[in-house]
Amino acid sequence: MKLSHRAQEVSLSVTLALDAKAKALALSGRDVVNMSVGEPDFDTPRVAREAATTTIRGGSVRYTPAAGTPAMRQAVARYLETTRGGVWSSEEVTICHSTKHALSGAIHALVDPKDEVLLLLPAWVSYVEIVKLAGGVPVSVPGRADCGPDFAAIERAITPRTKAVLLNSPSNPTGYVWTRDEVARLGRLCVERGLWLISDEIYRRLVYEGDPNPSPASLARDVRERTVVLDGASKSFAMTGWRIGFVAAHKSVAAAVERLHSHLVGAPNTVSQAAYMAALQAPGSEPEEVVAMVAEFDRRRRFLMSELDAMGLVAPNPRGAFYAFPNVERYLDARGSIGLCEDMLESEGLALVPGAAFGVDTHVRLSYATSMEKIAEATRRMRRFLSTRQVPLASPVTRRAR
Ligand code: GLU
Repeated sequence: MKLSHRAQEVSLSVTLALDAKAKALALSGRDVVNMSVGEPDFDTPRVAREAATTTIRGGSVRYTPAAGTPAMRQAVARYLETTRGGVWSSEEVTICHSTKHALSGAIHALVDPKDEVLLLLPAWVSYVEIVKLAGGVPVSVPGRADCGPDFAAIERAITPRTKAVLLNSPSNPTGYVWTRDEVARLGRLCVERGLWLISDEIYRRLVYEGDPNPSPASLARDVRERTVVLDGASKSFAMTGWRIGFVAAHKSVAAAVERLHSHLVGAPNTVSQAAYMAALQAPGSEPEEVVAMVAEFDRRRRFLMSELDAMGLVAPNPRGAFYAFPNVERYLDARGSIGLCEDMLESEGLALVPGAAFGVDTHVRLSYATSMEKIAEATRRMRRFLSTRQVPLASPVTRRAR
């Protein structure tokens, strides 16, 4: 009995595996604080839950077209006009089961075997695997010390085989939000070099200070033509388990994703489409609960950053998303960030994600999408753990995984 090479080589998502492990430990009676997974701890907005209930009660739960219902695609097109500007049509939108699903659809639609895709480090765990599953070659590009983009490194990484660049702003795992100038510069580079710019905007709404996150699709016309926007309900609307999102791009790309998904998954979930559509059609294109949720994330962010600072840990200022990514290099032994996180879970019951999962082994990721009490407890445990951590005198020098 032999599995395919593809299946043998793909590893379980580190974020999901760690979350499952932390939950299993808690179930077994261990006192665990889980700051691993990035999942809002807020209720799904009322308007979305009511739309879902009405849909189920009315029995309108049959298949929809593979690209989503016409009304849903229209709603996303209007939402894009409000949030990204310009004019959008339904043909430029394909509804997917999640933003992760939208990403895999876009990568499969655009990437041929051996095509290279630039991943800007630190990069979210699933990018590298999704590119490999499509037969493409993930090419890691180091970023700046503050986790912003290093354009010289990006330009050096481009080869005749480069097909696309993956942009994730606000970033998972750093919370870094690209400036308008940085997005414009990357967009221009993609136009000049004939590359697709795949823009994962799942954290778009979660920006707490400074300028909002600019989408490349809201810049020049020629940049928008090269841009593939990915977004969904999970993070901004606290709708993780609903599994609903979309691809928005040139209609040939949207149609390609639709064709792929018609075979691979059939159609997006009917009930979740109704719920997401209701959320998008709320006044201001978002449910009223979102403002309070974002304000609470910001409160937690400030608290967590001041705690990390008090521990003497340096982290890039997370203007967006709900992660902090401190440098813990001086506490690492030869097992790197994975060993550190294993030890912390073992001795303190504190679950964090090792930076190695994102291609930067000198850091760890903390998700502050959890209560203030849990964040306070997590930082107490982290401080205790680090204060007693025995590290070899010859501390490892900067590591870069992948
Ligand atoms: N994207 C979230 C995270 O990084 C959820 C888990 C996942 O899909 O990776 O924690």
